Amino acid sequence: MPAPSKLSHEKSHAEFHRARKVIPGGVNSPARAFGAVGGEPVVMDRGDGPYLFDIDGNRYIDFIGSWGPHILGHRHPRVVEAIEDALKHGTSFGAPTHLETVLAEIVVDAVPSVEMVRMVNSGTEAGMSAIRVARGATGRDKVVKFAGCYHGHVDALLVQAGSGALTHGVPTSPGIPAGATADTIVLPYNDPQRLAEAFTEFEGQIAGVFMEPVVGNMGLVPPKPEFLDAARQLCSEDGTLLGFDEVMTGFRLSFGGAQELFGVTPDMTMLGKVIGGGMPVGAYGGAAHVMENVSPLGPVYQAGTLSGNPIAMASGIATLSELKETNPYPRLEALGARFEQGLREAATAAGIPHSIGRVGSMMTLFFTSEDVTDLGTAQMSDTARFGKFFWGMLERGIYLPCSQFEALFISAAHTEEHIDEAITAAREVLGEISAE
Ligand code: PMP
Repeated sequence: MPAPSKLSHEKSHAEFHRARKVIPGGVNSPARAFGAVGGEPVVMDRGDGPYLFDIDGNRYIDFIGSWGPHILGHRHPRVVEAIEDALKHGTSFGAPTHLETVLAEIVVDAVPSVEMVRMVNSGTEAGMSAIRVARGATGRDKVVKFAGCYHGHVDALLVQAGSGALTHGVPTSPGIPAGATADTIVLPYNDPQRLAEAFTEFEGQIAGVFMEPVVGNMGLVPPKPEFLDAARQLCSEDGTLLGFDEVMTGFRLSFGGAQELFGVTPDMTMLGKVIGGGMPVGAYGGAAHVMENVSPLGPVYQAGTLSGNPIAMASGIATLSELKETNPYPRLEALGARFEQGLREAATAAGIPHSIGRVGSMMTLFFTSEDVTDLGTAQMSDTARFGKFFWGMLERGIYLPCSQFEALFISAAHTEEHIDEAITAAREVLGEISAE
């Protein structure tokens, strides 16, 4: 089925049809498939600053930014130049390079919890490795994760909450042996009481508590400050490592990530997305006494042929250096606040029940009047309504995440005019939806 949009997507449709024969579902990552909104994805040709252009020549204001990495917009000149320069030296050596140390130093300087860091190739690898190190360092097996948080497709963490109380996890995906999740405890987000109960029940057994300190993966859900504080305190009291998955939030919500913004320092941090500036990079780091467990310094094994890849490191260094020098965070906050207020007014004027989650440049408009604080409340959103909103925005040239349970991203390449154009489109679309 072609996209239910008035724009021409003829070439996209043909290309997607071709892709589906050789790539499962026609995509290399399910979030791109537009499945949740009932249609076909648009096939992209190029990006430029705040814009994406599809292969039919349609232009969109891009509020995804490759799902987070492009905080500077597409093809930022400094990033492109750094990649071109690095290319002249070769693409990969499988040996130490200067660039990986420079990127590691920037991360260590910026992120409060990180004294040592290991580069990997994706957020998934960062999560997988961090969990192993937490278990290796503590000699414990159990891990806590929170319903609705995503930490990559890591076996032990790809678990949703049942609605019950403290339970051992049930695998979300076929192909994950029950044993892989038997030591995963799934709890509701933003519920310090339930976390305290878990520590009572499993005292001395929990290796790590892993969380998104601001959740982007059930739509944008901010943490209650008392939740972060409780997690920090409970972990410290029981010798458990607190792991913040800052794959989305790192270098995005502030230069030092959500941990800097909220003033809560974890023991381990997972990074990705922005630190690669659009190239495949992930990283995990933490206190030196934790990271000293990692091979070859310590016994916990973790490796990667292309880890610390020079092209990816160059892209990351240029991106983080630009962020440090220009400090776009106050401006991103102002753009986010403007967008939030515009959406709120548009939804109110249209009489559409809504709730908006936003921290800085990450935001979600939920189609429910419930205050969204966890997976249960996020799932109260009217996803059919979200689908109509999504398509209405797309045909007006506004490219939003194709699921209610994802956050949009604003970049430093956006201006107030781009935000206002999106708000105008939202006003029209929400008006149409409410009239139906
Ligand atoms: N953690 C979080 C918080 C994420 O948002 C994501 C990806 N959206 C990941 C981990 C996994 O990263 P990757 O897709 O690079 O494997």
